[in-house]
Amino acid sequence: MVHWSLRRRSSWVQLAGHEGNFKPSEGGQILKKFSSVEDACLAELMADVLRPFVPAYHGVVEVGGERYIQMDDLLCGLDMPSIMDCKMGTRTYLEDELSEAQQRPAARRDLYQKMVKVDPQAPTAQEHSQGGVTKPRYMQWREGISSSASLGFRIEGVTIEGGAVRRDFKQTRTKEQIVDTFLMFTKARLDVLSTYAARLESMRQALEESAFFKTHEVIGSSLLFLHDRKGQASVWMIDFGKTLPAPENLPLQHCVVWAPGNHEDGYLIGLQHLIDTVQATLRK
Ligand code: ATP
Ligand code: MG
Ligand code: MG
Repeated sequence: MVHWSLRRRSSWVQLAGHEGNFKPSEGGQILKKFSSVEDACLAELMADVLRPFVPAYHGVVEVGGERYIQMDDLLCGLDMPSIMDCKMGTRTYLEDELSEAQQRPAARRDLYQKMVKVDPQAPTAQEHSQGGVTKPRYMQWREGISSSASLGFRIEGVTIEGGAVRRDFKQTRTKEQIVDTFLMFTKARLDVLSTYAARLESMRQALEESAFFKTHEVIGSSLLFLHDRKGQASVWMIDFGKTLPAPENLPLQHCVVWAPGNHEDGYLIGLQHLIDTVQATLRK
């Protein structure tokens, strides 16, 4: 009989995405609903210098007629973890989604309702009268009210020491608000913050060398910050469902402004601002 304590199970906490997209699995792994885009990325990342920053990938499995990607559960071994999901990039939708919406504009009522809930004044007169907004319009609006457009990342969700998940960061935009959120999230622990600073810095160096990063447009991907009361802490790159190979012969810089057609995502703009944020918390 296997002892519970020996199985190093984690209690699953999910800060983003549909709950049905994940399943627990044996041996400290989890299953995420299959996507060929994400599967190709994880497979390629296992042979890249970014490997130490990505949950280990264990191939594809079928459960109940449904295909899943199997990967390490990053919460494994952490006791009452504190977790933060930061969505990276100045742009959070694919260029394809934009051109699709321009060719066939589809006004979505659900996105209009989400918009009005945050700010009844946000939709234009036309959007009000049709009671809908297009997906890129909604995504651009979200980028602007949060720190995505200005800082290249935004906070999507936070949980502290196993407490309730907070997702009310849609309008967290200024550097000061973000520094305060990091201080709250870490309870201003210097050991945790310095581990985060060092991990982000080594991630930045690996990204500079990574062949994968040079050749991929990384959209809607997150950095997952994790620590526990013992002071174990780390940051991981997750969510590659919208990470696509850039057109051939178009190496990406990730630190320049996006213009339609250049496929730039602003990932390194976000990473540098995250490093600055953590450095600022260490000075407070
Ligand atoms: P969305 O695209 O809406 O962000 P998604 O279905 O692509 O959602 P992810 O963003 O990959 O899902 O993950 C959602 C959440 O699940 C993360 O914010 C994190 O809390 C948790 N999570 C994802 N992968 C792992 C992992 N390998 N280990 C631990 N937690 C994870
Ligand atoms: Mg995500
Ligand atoms: Mg995703």
